Amino acid sequence: MRDFGLGDLFAGAAGGRPSNGPRAGADVKVDLHLTLAEVASGVNKSVKIKLLDPCGRCGGSGADAGTRPKRCTTCAGTGEVRRAQRSFFGQFVSVAPCPTCSGEGVMIASPCKSCRGEGRERGEHTIPIDVPAGVATGQYMHLRGVGNAGVRGGPRGDIIVMFDVAEDERFERDGEDLYTEVLISFPQAVRGADVTVPGLAGELSLRVPSGTQSGQMFQLRGRGLPRVNASGTGDLHVRVRVWTPTELNGDEKKAIDQLASVLTPPPAKRDKGFWERMKEALGA
Ligand SMILES: [Zn+2]
Ligand SMILES: [Zn+2]
Repeated sequence: MRDFGLGDLFAGAAGGRPSNGPRAGADVKVDLHLTLAEVASGVNKSVKIKLLDPCGRCGGSGADAGTRPKRCTTCAGTGEVRRAQRSFFGQFVSVAPCPTCSGEGVMIASPCKSCRGEGRERGEHTIPIDVPAGVATGQYMHLRGVGNAGVRGGPRGDIIVMFDVAEDERFERDGEDLYTEVLISFPQAVRGADVTVPGLAGELSLRVPSGTQSGQMFQLRGRGLPRVNASGTGDLHVRVRVWTPTELNGDEKKAIDQLASVLTPPPAKRDKGFWERMKEALGA
């Protein structure tokens, strides 16, 4: 299935329509709203949509019961008229849609009373959509041949499903990778701890080692989103930030005062890895 990418959206229009005979129905665009959890697993959804169907009364011919569309006499059913024109360089022939039959090649003497000769009527459809895992806002999928019925028996057009993935406040998304942040206390950063991290399919546990610096990044491999139409899964990147309390009770204040009196001050010089970690934390 290679139905993703912008170029494909207009590919169907390039061929033009045949000048004679039935015309294909128009494509229909549908917005499909998804949650990040639905994107993670892939999901089967259905949308209700009004589409043009072949008219039930005339079977799509546009001609009233007991009559048939007749071949257009102006263009002899070809749908186009040719005009010879003279110019300085000689005679040339221009081709234009037949004005009598609007390029359709047929004339309907007594149009169907239900569709007024159009051959189509609106009907409500429920379209099942099998959403592959890993899609993103701005991507779309073609459902071929299930859109509007064509004029007078022409093939159905396509339905173009535009994906719209809702923001999830717990995560930032970059393709198949997810980013999140957790807060830890100063003692947790010093001694190491198992902390709870939000995951797409429930909470995850992350072991933060002793001596963790605020802003340090950790990766939970394979806890991101699946790659769309490919194998493999992205990672969940966790930025750990040390939470500084803004209000202290009596015991806390006493403990902090005691800590301050014995704690070695931070080094004046950063270690070599600091700027790399900083860049990583900033997503540079
Ligand atoms: Zn009809
Ligand atoms: Zn004609």
